[in-house]
Amino acid sequence: MKIMIIGGSFAGVSCAFRARQLYPEAQITIVEKNQLLGFIPSGFIQYVTGAVASLEEAVFVQKKDLEAAAIAIHLEEALVACFPEEHRIETTKGGYEYDRLVLAYGSIQESQLLEVSDEEALSLVPLAYKNFESAHILAEKVPTANSISIIGGGQAGMEAASAFVQLGKQVSVFETMDYPLFKYFDQAFLAPFLTDLEGIEGLTIHCNTSVKKITQRANLERTVLEETILEGTNKEATSFEIETNSGVERSDLALTMVNVHPKANPFYQVFESHSDNTIKTDAYLETSQADVFAVGDLIQIPALALKEQTYMPLINNAVRSGLVAAENLMKKTQPFKGGLRTIGTQLFGWYLASTGLLEAEAFNYPGKIATKSFAVPARLFGGAVIYSKVTFDADTHQVLGVQLLSQENCLEKINTAALAIETKQTLEALMQKDYFFQPAYTPVFDVINQLGVGSGCDEI
Ligand SMILES: Cc1cc2nc3c(=O)[nH]c(=O)nc-3n(C[C@H](O)[C@H](O)[C@H](O)COP(=O)(O)OP(=O)(O)OC[C@H]3O[C@@H](n4cnc5c(N)ncnc54)[C@H](O)[C@@H]3O)c2cc1C
Repeated sequence: MKIMIIGGSFAGVSCAFRARQLYPEAQITIVEKNQLLGFIPSGFIQYVTGAVASLEEAVFVQKKDLEAAAIAIHLEEALVACFPEEHRIETTKGGYEYDRLVLAYGSIQESQLLEVSDEEALSLVPLAYKNFESAHILAEKVPTANSISIIGGGQAGMEAASAFVQLGKQVSVFETMDYPLFKYFDQAFLAPFLTDLEGIEGLTIHCNTSVKKITQRANLERTVLEETILEGTNKEATSFEIETNSGVERSDLALTMVNVHPKANPFYQVFESHSDNTIKTDAYLETSQADVFAVGDLIQIPALALKEQTYMPLINNAVRSGLVAAENLMKKTQPFKGGLRTIGTQLFGWYLASTGLLEAEAFNYPGKIATKSFAVPARLFGGAVIYSKVTFDADTHQVLGVQLLSQENCLEKINTAALAIETKQTLEALMQKDYFFQPAYTPVFDVINQLGVGSGCDEI
């Protein structure tokens, strides 16, 4: 049996490894258009902050790992056409027949609304670093850039901002919404963090600001006034103009850290799709074409807290959907459960984590929602506070969402909260869960137990 997988990233690679375990006789091939396999999307940040010594090291898997598992990998080769009725594909390097095809070609980070001027110049300095080639070019530009504009205050944009401020850059973040990270946190909950950001030197966050156009001025022509303003800075590097609804700003580098979305490729027309370019699948991740599966950032998945389909481009979702597709390749046995949009990150010295439903999403929930917010110490002696907010069904007390914020690392707790939501725990049940106590590491009453007690309760 021939299994062809298009895309050698989180979804494609996890599918390949699981398929190898399940179907030892199968011939498994991954076709990947990039030159480097398994480059992680924040690899550029890991590199510029010194977490890895080279961009080549910012990978989660290597070619030799796949080869050791007898999985063939064709790098620098891209899918160009699909003929599902003939069980055949064409790539930039040839044609292949398959018994099962897995589409795992993911997403791109490109704004569909933003006007970008001087395409030629931008092809020299990319606006995003999700892939290795772009990261490579940008990594050379960062040392000479004094100022960096980041379009989008989501998780990736704020992680970039935090890293660049740490490197001593002047960073401007442009965010259309009222506050950054709106997808994962309620605004009032973030107050301690947002207040702290106001005092951070080198960081300016422009909220309620839409970027309309980015222009790279390859051949700079400056007025005398501009020359005066730029006196003492690295004039050579200054080359981007960011036009927003409230004015124009200049910077040495500009990054569009906007939401990712699948690219509408020509071959994609043969599959039924949603208006956001995601490919439609059934519960077993099979597309509208028999024997063709789609996984990862290419698909919408069930949002567990809301009981609806949604686009949730996260690595854990990509990995899990890849595994589940492998299970279903021969016989459809495992429906894909979906996800809770669980995230955790560290920004400007704060740890932030979220899973499930926000209060701001209450209008999407079929029942009545209530919330509790409270702060508990992270450990008995000398620890920081953990700010917590739980969203739950007002009638059944079933937990629907949890947000955590602290200057102490509390990120791992969000996975317990996600498990609690997935297994439909109530606040009362959480209060009785068994947690260890050790004064150097825990408070007397763990934050997850505390969700069931909290303080006060706001009905919505
Ligand atoms: C800057 C940034 C930071 C992020 N950080 C996080 C994070 O910390 N945590 C998290 O959970 N999520 C994060 N994400 C989201 C995460 O990147 C995606 O959810 C994840 O990469 C999806 O994996 P995937 O395998 O579905 O697709 P992708 O990772 O997009 O991979 C698709 C692969 O297919 C290849 N490909 C594309 N077209 C073709 C073709 N025609 N032929 C052959 N190959 C092709 C691509 O080269 C790529 O290797 C981040 C995203 C960005 C942009």
